[in-house]
Amino acid sequence: MAKGKIVQKPAGPSERKWNNQSSSSDRDVLCEVCGTNASEDQSSIIDRFLGLQLVEECCGRLIDRLFEEFGEEFCLAFLEEFTENPTDPRFIILKMALKEMPNKLQEKSKEIIETSEAIEKISDEAPE
Ligand SMILES: [Zn+2]
Repeated sequence: MAKGKIVQKPAGPSERKWNNQSSSSDRDVLCEVCGTNASEDQSSIIDRFLGLQLVEECCGRLIDRLFEEFGEEFCLAFLEEFTENPTDPRFIILKMALKEMPNKLQEKSKEIIETSEAIEKISDEAPE
């Protein structure tokens, strides 16, 4: 097993976009998690994963899995740290997301109300 490898073969692509390293590349790029050289024509999304370079299209499923298992715990812990030190520059992206959140939630609840009204209308019209 090569140094740094976590899995023997590619774990599969991510179904989300994580991009925690904010870089992508058209060059040949090594997925250090499985040892595969991802030399695709398309550009790759590179993440840091346990200190290794991970190609999302190769082993991003591992991050999806972590999110499924720990997403809520990570989110709550991060928000806890934010409320303890809200001026810390590391929370800039979170603050932008929190600003957009009420609009998105309002939009979503409008959709839910419209859908339930439509369902009500259909069931009112349906013969008994
Ligand atoms: Zn890989």
